This record gives sequence, structure tokens and C-alpha cells, in this order.
Amino acid sequence: MRTLIKDGTIIDPANKINSRLNLLIENGKIAGLMKTLPEADAVINARGKVVCPGFIDIHMHEDPVGSDGKIQQNIFLTMLRMGVTTAAAGNCGVNLFHPADYLDIADRDGTAINILMFAGHKSFREMAGAKDKYSAASPKQIDAMKTMMKEALARGCAGISFGLSYAPGAEYSEVKEAASCCSGKGKMITVHVADDAAGVFKATSDLVRTAAPLDIPIQLSHIGSMGGFGQMAPYLDQIHEYRQKDTDISCDCYPYDAFSTRIGSSTYDIGWQDRYQCGYDVCEICEGKYTGMRCTEEIFAELRRDFPRCLTVCYTMKQDDIDIAVADSRVMLASDGILDGPHGHPRAAGAFPRLISEYVRTGKISMNDAISKMTYMPAERLGLKKKGRFDTGADADAVIFDPLTIRDCSTFSDPVLPPAGIDMVIIAGQTAAVNSEIIRDDLGRSIRL
Ligand SMILES: [Zn+2]
Repeated sequence: MRTLIKDGTIIDPANKINSRLNLLIENGKIAGLMKTLPEADAVINARGKVVCPGFIDIHMHEDPVGSDGKIQQNIFLTMLRMGVTTAAAGNCGVNLFHPADYLDIADRDGTAINILMFAGHKSFREMAGAKDKYSAASPKQIDAMKTMMKEALARGCAGISFGLSYAPGAEYSEVKEAASCCSGKGKMITVHVADDAAGVFKATSDLVRTAAPLDIPIQLSHIGSMGGFGQMAPYLDQIHEYRQKDTDISCDCYPYDAFSTRIGSSTYDIGWQDRYQCGYDVCEICEGKYTGMRCTEEIFAELRRDFPRCLTVCYTMKQDDIDIAVADSRVMLASDGILDGPHGHPRAAGAFPRLISEYVRTGKISMNDAISKMTYMPAERLGLKKKGRFDTGADADAVIFDPLTIRDCSTFSDPVLPPAGIDMVIIAGQTAAVNSEIIRDDLGRSIRL
């Protein structure tokens, strides 16, 4: 099967291409970029549109597995609609299901997008018996945790994720032991560091001191919600100083000035209003009987007690700080998407197109840089040599969009509204979505590293 996408503007930052060319796809792979019009079984006219590699999300949170043993696809569908063709899940230390078994299910049934999984440190420490997030794990529990993590990595998980602020009892000696499972195996760690706002500098230096000697790639997760409280410029300086000293560290950010987490998480432990210099009303409830309402002291206390899983959105970050992070050429885009059904933060359905509508069309960054942040940079970081680029022989995952109209439509009140201006999403050479309508939700497979 040969498909020709003709007359589009091909943007492929990996190969420094930005020009009017035709893209030939054959049997699920890129067969070449050319000026000629070769014979094909199907021809897609992309005149006036951008054609780029499928977007890669290095940080999101997967859908659950239902009692029928199947992945209950929801966020994977919102991802596909916004042009994401590959995503890394199991982040912030949390897996909803055993991550290697999850990859097996993805291969058995197919998923809407290609999936990588991180083994979540907090989930594995719980499996090892360390169920109290405020207490240190015992040496025996750490040993058990490491044995299980090594098995998950051997079965193809991409590395280990940490959500250190969600497991405040984990000591750095435990973090080092867990992270050491990645050493020498081509695996990486992603880290939601132990503290945010004014505490982000020390939390990050503690992490780097712990993990840098292991010589494994470190990815700092969603830096907007960690340092976006007036600290972003010096925080980026700190991160880039580590890079100059040869620490293999990079970071990602989502383009919104509000974060999202469950109300029972330790983010909201005593002292959070002092940390963010705010009142209860910055916290909006995303599900249940108070949906759409801002917190009061009473609502906050009730939900912490009776519905700790309740997703919230917290309007605390500074837009200027988010702009600094997102526009920095060394920061890649990630959604950090997390949904409970239709509830959650609009980033799960809008982060990628929003980068173009809010940052490219307003002149803050170039289209090339934006596409790079969404394709080539995360592909390189994850070690995906066949994705995020249009080399001949690469996987034929692609997005066709209108550069003048693409935009996110999801909002805090309607977080799963599909974006506008994305004409087509292609996975493995096949049409997965057209104009935000899902055509195939089973073209994705596991990616095992
Ligand atoms: Zn996180």
C-alpha cells in the first residue's frame, strides 16, 4: 500500500526540512520526500497544510484497565485527536496497572496511539509493602522494589518515573537505589521533584546530587508547575548549569498556568497555601458534586476526607514563567494529561495544538522550534530512532494541520473538547483520525526499550 501526501509544507526538524514536498508512505514506513509525483494507491492533497511527524508526548498519565482486562481508552483518544501518535505514560511515580502487563495488553488489543511505559516508583514501593507515603521504605522493601522494577525494565519499560512530592517519605538513598536499576541498560528516569515554588531549587539539586553519579538520563517533569511561581528564569539557569557540567538532564513543560492533581495528594498537605501564597479559592473541583466550583475551607476538608481521588485544577502559576519555559529552545513540550472520564485539565486535549496557536501564531517561537519540541526533541530523549522524523524507513506517523487555524478548544469547563485545524493523523501509514474524528483506535502498539 502506497500513500502519497502531496503539496504540503513538510516540516521535519530532525532533518532540517521546511519546504513544499510530497511525502510517500509505503507499508507503514516513510518511503521518501520528493518533488515528483510517484504512483500511489491513495493520494492526499495537503496543499496549504503543514505535514510533520506525529507528535510525541514524553509525559502523560495512562487510561485505566477495566474489570474486563481491557484498556479503557479515553485520554488516548484525546491525545490522538490533538495529533499525538506516541506517548510515554506511567509518570509521576504512578502506574494504574502493572506497566509491563499494560504493554502486553496494548499489543494484544491495539491502542489509539503508540505507548511507552515508565515503571512508577511510588506504585512499586507500594507493591513492595511500603504503603505509607510518609514513611521510609525498609531495606527489605527496597530490595523487593528493585527486583520488581528490574523485571519491568527487562520487559520493555522505558525507565522509572518518580513523583517525589507524592512520596515524601522516600529518602534519597531509596531514590538512588531505585534509579540504579536503570544504569547501563539504556533506560532513563523522569522526575516530578520533591518540592515546588521556592523549594524547587533545593529539591532539584538534591535529586541531581543523587542521580547524576548513576550516569542515566534525567528528565525533569512539567517544570511549569514546579518552578512557575516566579522562579522560572533562575530555575532554567540552574538546570542548564547542570548540562554544562555534563549531567544528562533535560525537561518538559505544558503551556498552561494552572496545574492539576488529586485533592488527596501531598501537594495539598498542610502549608500549601503558604507555599503558593494563595487561599482555598485557587483550587477548582473537576469531578463529583462540586464540579466547577472553587474550594472553600469546608469543601476542601470534606473532599480530602471523603473523595481524595477527586481531580482538581489549581490556578497558581505565573503566565510569564510558563512563557519563559515554553519558549526556551531547550525545553520540550509534554501534556502531563490526566483525565477521569471527561473530567480533568484541558491540557489532555489541547496542549499540543495550543503550542502553535498561543506561541507560534503570536510570534513567541518559530514553527520549526514548536514542531521540534513536539517531535524530534522527545524522540531523541526517549531514544526513538524511527519516530519523530521523516527519514526514509522511519515509522510513518504523521500529522497534517492548517497552520492558520490549528488551535486548542478544550477549556477548564469543557476539558475534552477536540482541537480545530487538525486535518489528519496517521499512524503506521494508516488514517487514525480525520478532522478530530477517530477512524481507527487500535493502530498503536507498545514501544519497548
Ligand atoms: Zn507530576
